[in-house]
Amino acid sequence: APAPPPARHLFSDPAEVEALRGNLLAWYDRCKRDLPWRALAATELDADRRGYAVWVSEIMLQQTQVATVIDYYNRWMQKWPTLQALAQASLEEVNELWAGLGYYSRGKRLQEAARKVVSELAGRMPRTAEDLQRLLPGVGRYTAGAIASISYGQATGVVDGNVIRVLCRLRCIGANSSSPAVIDWLWDMANVLVDRSRPGDFNQALMELGATVCVPKAPLCGECPVKQHCQAWRRKLFGKSPPVPDIEDCGVGDCPLCPPATEPWDSSLGVTNFPRKAAKKPPRAMRMATCVLERRGCHGAPEYLIVQRPSSGLLAGLWEFPSLPLAQDLQEGKEREELADHLQAWTGHPVAAKGLRFIGEVIHIFSHIHQTHVVYSLHLDGDVTLDPALSPSRWVTEDEFHASAVSTAMKKV
Ligand code: SF4
Repeated sequence: APAPPPARHLFSDPAEVEALRGNLLAWYDRCKRDLPWRALAATELDADRRGYAVWVSEIMLQQTQVATVIDYYNRWMQKWPTLQALAQASLEEVNELWAGLGYYSRGKRLQEAARKVVSELAGRMPRTAEDLQRLLPGVGRYTAGAIASISYGQATGVVDGNVIRVLCRLRCIGANSSSPAVIDWLWDMANVLVDRSRPGDFNQALMELGATVCVPKAPLCGECPVKQHCQAWRRKLFGKSPPVPDIEDCGVGDCPLCPPATEPWDSSLGVTNFPRKAAKKPPRAMRMATCVLERRGCHGAPEYLIVQRPSSGLLAGLWEFPSLPLAQDLQEGKEREELADHLQAWTGHPVAAKGLRFIGEVIHIFSHIHQTHVVYSLHLDGDVTLDPALSPSRWVTEDEFHASAVSTAMKKV
């Protein structure tokens, strides 16, 4: 087994751990943001509703800014205040409410899990992190820990992106913070640190610190409630030099938590040397031809055709303008022809490539895909029937379009 990291990377002094907890919780009590899920969890909800309220917020907050989530969260909890209400919703309704929030499979999985709690667990939320993770689809280690500590007072730590940053700075951890070995050590630390009497508040405080003070680029170390426990800050690295090499500090040449000797830290970066991640893979480039088909509706207002995406994969079940993936190196004329052929096969009407009007390009960036929509429009006269075997489709007015479960990319189009 690999040697454990040197003590300086860990929280091995109980007195220091106690002081850190006290300082962090006192700061949280003074400075925490007013957020709707906190307000809701603080009311007299029964245990299952409390767990549900926290669960929804945690799923929405994954990869998404707090400011964006607030409005979605309020609308969701108004529409489906209980697990039972959510279990009865249709996927279409869930997608409609989720439209614009991104990472759409989150909403779908949340609803599937709610159905499971109602049908298989008699509507009772599991009460521990272990059971939440084991029994609920889409609930991983982080979400399980957050629900169990915040809603049920289980003394279990959590590790998310904010916590990784704070812990790596507190303990000068410069090894790749996305490696499984380092992540395991961070979970151990979070479990050691978590306050036994206020675990939910402590976990939220650590995350809040990362979101508002120990931020990625310009941390506010001067205002930080735990700076006296922070090794990165204590070394006064920020903008100063020279740092003592990590290896000397650790006293070993192969410390599993220090930066590799080949990539020593950069003293000009100070505390922002931490955390370190392996370089990300560049996003995959994709091109799509997208056609906005328009007709006069029966009241004279324009209507647009939207089609439903398959029920699995990227943007599952959402509605979009008819789109066709394109090869990267296709000439413009060829792109147009391919789109015309596709529309023709689909509408059963002759579509001339030159009848397609080029509108422009829309770029949308997913975490792993850089997508370019090459946008065309086409007016159709008379009634057009579409082959229902190809995919569900419907004509919508502009208002209906915006109320439908469509992705942000389609709204840009
Ligand atoms: Fe983060 Fe600075 Fe606080 Fe350390 S002192 S935890 S680097 S904000």
